[in-house]
Amino acid sequence: MSILIFQQEIEETVKKKIKLRINDNRSTMLSVKWEPDCTRVSMHRMFLEAPKNIMDALACHIQTENSNLCPSVKAYIEEKLTAFDYSSKLNENRLHTQGQVYDLQALYNEINTKYFAGEVRLKITWYGKVHRRKKAQVTFGLYQEATKLVKIHRMMDSTFFPEYFVEFVIYHEMLHHVCRSYYDEKGNHRVHTDEFKKKEQEFEHFELANLWMNKNYNNFFMM
Ligand SMILES: [Zn+2]
Repeated sequence: MSILIFQQEIEETVKKKIKLRINDNRSTMLSVKWEPDCTRVSMHRMFLEAPKNIMDALACHIQTENSNLCPSVKAYIEEKLTAFDYSSKLNENRLHTQGQVYDLQALYNEINTKYFAGEVRLKITWYGKVHRRKKAQVTFGLYQEATKLVKIHRMMDSTFFPEYFVEFVIYHEMLHHVCRSYYDEKGNHRVHTDEFKKKEQEFEHFELANLWMNKNYNNFFMM
């Protein structure tokens, strides 16, 4: 969103003039000074891409002249800061898509064509070691919004994992990009939203993948 439109939207909601400054530093995420003639707001550029509920909370903060930030805005800042830490440019030389058994790029391309009309633009890579060291945790895949990167755990590069299951994990991570998360009024980060869950069921082998997961879940703790 452009700064001008952003400013107009905030002014419209709070019904007063604001002087807005966008900063790009790590120290001042948000500062509001309420002065008689105008309100001075300095905020990090992360707010330019804030979802509607955060915009509303922000406007409310500016309007009510209450210096306490509401939990949803705090949570948003925290989440975004984590993301900004990743933003050091993605080194594409370090992405590995061709595995021993599965070619992630090929699977990703198929899924993109089949479910997203080829319109999703993400990178994908294997990460981790074939044999996991930690036994207590099972993470098949991750998605990093800041770098637009899907990461699939290398333990899945094995014939033990059926292709439809690997595809399901890739599809799930891609959905994280398509169905954006949000913060609810309590400041909780809602990731697997109703929209997300509905779309997840559109996966061709959704039931098969879940059956396989349920049947094999205990195995992961013994590998
Ligand atoms: Zn997820």
